[in-house]
Amino acid sequence: MDIEQFRKAGYDAIDRICAYHYSLREKPVVAQVKPGYLRDLIPNSAPQKGHEWASIIDDYQRDILPGLTHWHHPSFFAYFPTANTFEGVLGDLLSSSTSNPGFNWFASPACTELEAVVMDWAAKMFGLHRAFWNVNEVGGGVIQTTASDSALTAIVAARTRYISDHSGTALESLVIYVTTQTHSFGKKAGMILGLRVRALDVDATVTTDNTGLTGEVLRAAVKEDHARGLHPFVLIATVGTTSTGAIDQVGEIGAIIEESFPSIWLHVDAAWAGVTLACPEYREFAQLPGINEHADSVCINFHKWGLTNFDASSLWVRERRRLIDALDVTPEYLRTKEGDAGNVTDYRNWHLSLGRRFRSLKLWFVLRSFGVEGFQANIRKCISLNNSFVERVRACPIFELVTPPAFALTVFRLLPEPAGNTDELESVNSLNRAFYSDLQSRPDLALTQTSLGGVFCVRFAVGSTRTEQRDIDNAWKIIKEAGENVLLKMGLLSLNRMQYT
Ligand SMILES: *Cc1c(COP(=O)(O)O)cnc(C)c1O
Repeated sequence: MDIEQFRKAGYDAIDRICAYHYSLREKPVVAQVKPGYLRDLIPNSAPQKGHEWASIIDDYQRDILPGLTHWHHPSFFAYFPTANTFEGVLGDLLSSSTSNPGFNWFASPACTELEAVVMDWAAKMFGLHRAFWNVNEVGGGVIQTTASDSALTAIVAARTRYISDHSGTALESLVIYVTTQTHSFGKKAGMILGLRVRALDVDATVTTDNTGLTGEVLRAAVKEDHARGLHPFVLIATVGTTSTGAIDQVGEIGAIIEESFPSIWLHVDAAWAGVTLACPEYREFAQLPGINEHADSVCINFHKWGLTNFDASSLWVRERRRLIDALDVTPEYLRTKEGDAGNVTDYRNWHLSLGRRFRSLKLWFVLRSFGVEGFQANIRKCISLNNSFVERVRACPIFELVTPPAFALTVFRLLPEPAGNTDELESVNSLNRAFYSDLQSRPDLALTQTSLGGVFCVRFAVGSTRTEQRDIDNAWKIIKEAGENVLLKMGLLSLNRMQYT
């Protein structure tokens, strides 16, 4: 493709993207294809002679698009949302057009410098303490691929800090602390690093009021492990767990770490809920004071409901040298005069890979286009839409909230009506599995499941930029009907009891 052919194909691609977005509402949310569908459609080796672009793009439209789940469909309420704005799309397009791996300052000065500035914009928007700003050159922020990478990077830095402060500690005695509600990346980090992982049990407090880890649970665990000759060296605390949006009490935990166990690194995973820090009214609830006072590192994903297209996970650390101590390897071919002089940031030493995408461009576009106010408005809109769903669940006797609503997430389940023997966990669980399986077979809505202390629950997460009140109303209608049908089928709902309808 030459430049003029690109111009033409590029305009056509934009037209196709616009048509896609116009037609989203009419599409099934979830891909209606069977496993292996694409193998049957695509030849099993690359063509010997290149194809015409027109046939390639038509095949994309015909074979690939229908195999995508439409995460930006207004009725996508599964997992957590992932952001999609045209500002973000254009940022990625331009970044891709100058494709470069920007691993150190010299490799593309603007990549490093824009990231350092934009991460400071973000830190200020979220109210993060100046200790985390790049401009002070002690702490700083860096964009990682995902929250999993952010956590793994923090754990690696924590391990290096612990070993250098406690030389001679056997690696087998190190322990990564997570909770029973931490994202699965905690276990995975343990597998990757060959380290023990201990999950502190917080299921009971999560069920009661969606608070997660408290200081006392942590203190007891550390004492127990110290007595066994083990060395907990990092704690992953979560603000807004993936399962139910639960919040570990960062202030309380951080104070105990600082007083009694200062060699434990506190990483705060606020991958999903962290963006609410842009709104002053959520800062207390989302643990900003604790983060600012005690966290060694904090992760907030822009690529969930932070208006910035996947991928853009931000990681801030209080001491950048901890990352560099753990990750800097500088062979001759990576040396630069600016790097040697120490007057530039070489982001390759702040994460696991060498090369990195120019992601700050899309974040810059987003923050400039929306402004802090536009960013806040999106967060408030999502929470308010979720609240309207919560009100309906609360008012309807065949459903209950399993945990208190968290930001833009509702965790609920179906109950027999009248609420008879809800103690029979297994029978209520199987009722809910049937209910969820009905919902899952529908093309017009997507939800996901979770389990909390053995209780099967359904999750409803709001965050697609295209979701409006009418989509919540429509989702509620579908969910309520599905619930009633399951109850009727199982003889747990008599029609004359349905006065609430
Ligand atoms: C989504 C999520 C993650 C994982 O995010 P990735 O960026 O996909 O790795 C981790 N923790 C929490 C709390 C999340 O919500």
